[in-house]
Amino acid sequence: MSDNLSTKVCISCNRDENTIPLVSITFAKQATWICTQCLPTLIHEPQRLVEKFKSMDTNNPVNRQID
Ligand SMILES: [Zn+2]
Repeated sequence: MSDNLSTKVCISCNRDENTIPLVSITFAKQATWICTQCLPTLIHEPQRLVEKFKSMDTNNPVNRQID
């Protein structure tokens, strides 16, 4: 069983909502979470988050669409 759906973690630093406040964001039609500390990174360097999303897609089968 996976607990991914109930455990929210920052896409950038992987800290969970018990450690730091998380903000819900959507990008490229995917919903995810980012913490308040990483939010400035998203604002100033969105390309770094794009790379995170790309690596998440290829490395995590949970995020793949099943045909
Ligand atoms: Zn973070």
